[in-house]
Amino acid sequence: MKSIKNEAAVCCPNHCEEFEVEYWSLISADQDPDLKAAAMGGELNLVQCPKCGNFFHHDGDLIYLDAPAELLLFVFSEKNRSHEQELRARMQRDYEIIKNTLAKQLQMDYPPICVFGLEALKDVLQREEKQAFESEAVAAASAAQGMQVARLKPSYAREHHFPYYVPAPGGKVSPNAYAIAASKVLKSGLKSPLLLNFKDQMSQEGVAIPLTL
Ligand SMILES: [Zn+2]
Repeated sequence: MKSIKNEAAVCCPNHCEEFEVEYWSLISADQDPDLKAAAMGGELNLVQCPKCGNFFHHDGDLIYLDAPAELLLFVFSEKNRSHEQELRARMQRDYEIIKNTLAKQLQMDYPPICVFGLEALKDVLQREEKQAFESEAVAAASAAQGMQVARLKPSYAREHHFPYYVPAPGGKVSPNAYAIAASKVLKSGLKSPLLLNFKDQMSQEGVAIPLTL
């Protein structure tokens, strides 16, 4: 899926004359890593007033998709926060359209996330990056213990606050075997709240086997 630009008429906060801008309304993060970097750096949809030179963000609705990470965000304009309920309903409708037409080949089986404003998008992406770093540390520590590494389904890992990678049990696969494998890596000295949470959840009675890719 390709990133898409839209046009809009915007007003500068200094009340200068209205002017036309092009802004990103759909971001396909794995196709356009530069746009992901811009969103994280706060430069996404930053525009400059031709009259007074003032820089400001165009706060238009946009969709952010990172297909390999199973991350679909609907970013609504900050000023529409009071209409959250109807925007969530619209998001569900748009999600069905995207899922069944535009992104049909992606076979999306994860729910969209709704946020308001570019700052909120930045926060989600920064949390995501932190989780990815911690997950890589889990993978490295597991490998250092001579263990295989399993990749959890990203949307499942995100929802449950698990790392994206976990040590895989050597023998028979069960939630408890995952808990034991995680425990072994944690005992090696790795500090990972995500893996600790995974170990605790997998130790629970009647828990389902983790979803892996
Ligand atoms: Zn201006």
